[in-house]
Amino acid sequence: MRNGFEIWDAHCHVYPEKIAARAVAGTDAFYSTVAAGRGTIPDLIAAGTACGVDKFVVQSVATTPKQVASINRFIAEAVAAAPEQLIGLGTIHPAAEDIAADVRDLAALGLHGIKIHPDIQGYRIDDPLFFPAYALCEKLDLPILMHTGDSRYDYSNPNRLLPVLQKFPHLRVVGAHFGGWSIWEEAAEKLAGIPNLWVDCSSTMPFMKGGNKKERVENLIRKYGVDRVLFGTDYPMWSHRQELDFFFELDLTDEDRRAILSENAKKVYGSPKKVLKKEESVI
Ligand SMILES: [Zn+2]
Repeated sequence: MRNGFEIWDAHCHVYPEKIAARAVAGTDAFYSTVAAGRGTIPDLIAAGTACGVDKFVVQSVATTPKQVASINRFIAEAVAAAPEQLIGLGTIHPAAEDIAADVRDLAALGLHGIKIHPDIQGYRIDDPLFFPAYALCEKLDLPILMHTGDSRYDYSNPNRLLPVLQKFPHLRVVGAHFGGWSIWEEAAEKLAGIPNLWVDCSSTMPFMKGGNKKERVENLIRKYGVDRVLFGTDYPMWSHRQELDFFFELDLTDEDRRAILSENAKKVYGSPKKVLKKEESVI
């Protein structure tokens, strides 16, 4: 809690101790950043709770199909060890042998959704290889947190996301970084108002160049609507203190703050989804 508000950090990357330093260095290289945290679960919980964060939505992205099962097990075990603080999202990879089976498996582990990162995975968000997973998530009501937007590549920009939102109208998608990292306003122009899309506010203000950043973020929130925006830090990239200090400076009502800091995340990620038995045919 901070200032009387419950806080959910809806966008946290975590890695097993052994590989955290290497994984964080890889992300730093991809985005030209210097991470604020170590990328491990103990570091995340310590850093976040020191700033009043109550709950963390944790995930890790598989860059090869081989990593999928072990990452999902790692996230599920982390959640089992700290169920009061963590909510886990699973990973999938479009080149997997049976992506729908991977979705079924991660749902059976009790994970509350999925994270994909098309730019790091190197597949377009609207690549048909993802479709069996999208179709099953739609049926299971499993939300997908998608990295969205990059002015350098065309894997996850609005022109890729729009057809997915339209083809799978009941798939609940959270577009990270206001639906379009590095192309924030352009993304909001194209995506605001789509009923199956939420966005998170992570990795936005520190990357913005030019203009009044506070006003730009306030405009993005208004454009999508306060009931559509989730607070997130993109840990370990940014510190909780810095992101929360910035958030509390925004011109918002207490009701808006409550929605963005926890209520919207509870609605999207809060409850475990329907788990299908193996023999139930869904696609
Ligand atoms: Zn992310």
